[in-house]
Amino acid sequence: MSNLNIRYPLLYLTSNCSSCNQYENTIHLLRCPLHTYDPHNTLTNEISNTLNSLNLSETSPYTIIQILNPQNSLPNSTIYNTILLLIQGTITLDQYKQLQPTLKKLTNNFLTLLSNSLLNWFNSTIWQTRNTKQHEWELARGITTSTKKKNNIRLPILQPSNSTNTGFTYNTDIDLFIFKTLSQNFTIYNCFY
Ligand SMILES: [Zn+2]
Repeated sequence: MSNLNIRYPLLYLTSNCSSCNQYENTIHLLRCPLHTYDPHNTLTNEISNTLNSLNLSETSPYTIIQILNPQNSLPNSTIYNTILLLIQGTITLDQYKQLQPTLKKLTNNFLTLLSNSLLNWFNSTIWQTRNTKQHEWELARGITTSTKKKNNIRLPILQPSNSTNTGFTYNTDIDLFIFKTLSQNFTIYNCFY
């Protein structure tokens, strides 16, 4: 929602989640109370399934979790960040070196499979549920694909200097600009800097 608010400021007057009304950035997609999953169980299950698919079922998923999601080792490190980074295929070199003695030649394979399977889980459990809510929210406000096209902000196009058009184009949606400004706790004077 925060990206939509930047991209279509006339349509999305808020950066907040359409379900719970908290600020919606990428990590919020995982944290939103709309979803009732347990992130620790999800990560354990996905790791366990990935180990099984590589015939590594004798390896405990908890050994892997302790490496991938070390408790309190990094500031702001949460299970949600861990899941997000794994979906993006990002781990630290230190974590990679810690995994190698256990997973050996299958380390890369394991990380690729885990990342893909977490992405599938994200798509079916989080993204589709969130989009159903978002769609209801947009329908209630008359936001459709065509209104998005109409309200997309583009850079101004330079007029040719020999143009005979001396008219002035007004922004007919100025009220919406002001409302957006107020809703973000700016004073109106911020507009004029
Ligand atoms: Zn939410």
